[in-house]
Amino acid sequence: MAKKTVNDIDLKNARVLMRADFNVPVKNGRITDDTRIRAALPTIKYILKQKGSSLILMSHLGRPKGTIKPELSLKPVAARLGNLLGISIIMASDCVGDEVAEKSKNLKSGEVMLLENLRFHAEEEKNDPDFAKQLASLGTIFVNDAFGTAHRAHASTEGIAHFITAVAGFLMEKEIRFLGGVLENPEKPFVAIIGGAKVSTKIGVLESLLKRATSIVIGGGMAYTFLKAQGHSIGKSLIENDFLKTAENLLKHAASEEVRIILPQDHLVASEFTETAGAELVDSIDIPDGKIGMDVGPKTLESCRSVIEQAKTVVWNGPMGVFEFDNFAKGTLEVAEMVADCRGTTVVGGGDSVAAVNKFGLSGRIDHVSTGGGASLEFLEGRELPGIKVLEEK
Ligand code: ADP
Ligand code: MG
Repeated sequence: MAKKTVNDIDLKNARVLMRADFNVPVKNGRITDDTRIRAALPTIKYILKQKGSSLILMSHLGRPKGTIKPELSLKPVAARLGNLLGISIIMASDCVGDEVAEKSKNLKSGEVMLLENLRFHAEEEKNDPDFAKQLASLGTIFVNDAFGTAHRAHASTEGIAHFITAVAGFLMEKEIRFLGGVLENPEKPFVAIIGGAKVSTKIGVLESLLKRATSIVIGGGMAYTFLKAQGHSIGKSLIENDFLKTAENLLKHAASEEVRIILPQDHLVASEFTETAGAELVDSIDIPDGKIGMDVGPKTLESCRSVIEQAKTVVWNGPMGVFEFDNFAKGTLEVAEMVADCRGTTVVGGGDSVAAVNKFGLSGRIDHVSTGGGASLEFLEGRELPGIKVLEEK
């Protein structure tokens, strides 16, 4: 099920309406990280290279919840984008309405206009059809390059495609190619590394990957619920007692599918959950009373290495430990290095895992670092994302 991209349609003389993810961090009117703006440049530049085309960009920023919040205006994005492209961007005062419609129609070839924050209107998140239709009327072709919001059925991601030809941008296309590749025909051995805080948020992805993976590493805070389900003592580590049965069933399911599960065999623990707490090694699966499991230990990392080294496909979601605390970042750092060193296809998704990979400066050595946190998780769960579903098939 391949989706059409900007490469598959004629954009000559088109007024292209593109949904981007310009949801960048802004402090006192200044953009502190423009990664997301840069990520949209290949598609933007490609569109502007087409003869006679003009471009209308739209995005949300933050959570204004249907009210106009001046501090969440996209004006700083227009300025930064203009600098990056070396042109001046026309900033619209709103994203719908007569004035915007008029300005859109009058755009000249090569001109770029950025609409104001979509979420200043409550209709955006409600996926209101009238609002979607008004947005659609601004352009002649719709391009969605905002993978990070593709899991939400909003007016600018889903509703709009019912009124206008809709195709994927290059960023969206890359996400679908890599994440889809992992699900549809991963080269084996396929190793999934799933960590992070909670079983409850990762159960869907674990179940989906159980059907596909050769081995699954379970680390991070969620590992202790699995260890407890196996009858081990876990001290004061993170636990979701409501998910003990789920964990037990998942382990049984893995055994019947002949998927190897790697759980922590040793740990770095702390006496209290603080930034300054010292790390103590516990060289056994069982954790002493009163201690908190904060990171995986060296034996566990050797098991990870043995499977990741051999892998032809690796997907990683969720840190191995409390990597935000320097004393407990080692497991996540080492796994990140193993993934970077792996010769197979490597994919990392998830807000915190991606933050970790960036913090360690390793993103350039990973084949695909997903730009969507929630969206990549839902994709890996095997769900069809509403913003992707509505794009034209090839
Ligand atoms: P992602 O955003 O990559 O999907 P999650 O949001 O599921 O990842 O989980 C990330 C969080 O999990 C991090 O804040 C990290 O500190 C936390 N975490 C990892 N290991 C542990 C642990 N042993 N105990 C408590 N929290 C943990
Ligand atoms: Mg997270």
